[in-house]
Amino acid sequence: MSMEQFLQAWIGLGGVAIPTDAQADAPRRPARLILLGAPGIGKGTQATRLSTAYKALHLSTGDVFRAAKANKDKGGLTPALEAAVGYMVRGELVPDDTVVDLVRERRAILAGPYGFLLDGFPRTAPQADALNGILSGVNTKLDAVLSYTLPIDKVIERLSGRRTCKKCNASYHTVAMPPKKDGVCDKCGGELFLRDDDKPDTVRVRMQAYEASTKPLVDYYQQRGLLVEITAEGTADEIFEKSLSIIKDRCSLSV
Ligand code: AMP
Repeated sequence: MSMEQFLQAWIGLGGVAIPTDAQADAPRRPARLILLGAPGIGKGTQATRLSTAYKALHLSTGDVFRAAKANKDKGGLTPALEAAVGYMVRGELVPDDTVVDLVRERRAILAGPYGFLLDGFPRTAPQADALNGILSGVNTKLDAVLSYTLPIDKVIERLSGRRTCKKCNASYHTVAMPPKKDGVCDKCGGELFLRDDDKPDTVRVRMQAYEASTKPLVDYYQQRGLLVEITAEGTADEIFEKSLSIIKDRCSLSV
């Protein structure tokens, strides 16, 4: 099973079966990392780059909910997922039980040979507690929790300029990382759009949810000796290089 198929199993709303040849192109020492940071800080961009560098799966619960939204009209969503889409569109956090169930269903993937970069999960202390239980249930330990930091006015500036590809989900910024052709994805030619949850009213709600629920996770993981802080100043390339060097020093993980 290739890494792409593994990722589809994560995003896919059905069950997960992992064939025995899953070790074939897996890295020798999988990276198991959580990425924390306010919405819009560039964590998704870093997660994509880091997952390529470490051959680890980029697992975004937000992507799962966006995929559910895209499939809503086709039917087949569970009532919990239907409700989750509503929370997402309003910028509110999806209830812990729904998110935790979704991750628990995919626990075989977390324990798999590729390792993982969790982006957007956990987002509350109960989710972090649940993740501890899920990981210890599959004999898997975290390497580190990377916390990206930036002053709040800069975060809002980044979010309002973000543009996402409708087709492949790639992320751009109107000023900091513009596409070659306005409104068109460099990678697949898809149309770029402003995500519903990046619109100003929703952004305000998301920032409040972040401050109230997710920021406490910084202390949570600090107390457990897993936290690594990274200033998200500079270009995406600079932040990426900084992340690689910190992970190398801290976790002895090389690319
Ligand atoms: P993201 O792309 O990570 O910013 O997630 C987009 C939206 O999905 C969030 O604003 C929430 O509504 C929902 N969401 C994603 N992950 C979680 C989570 N771990 N807990 C609660 N809600 C989540």
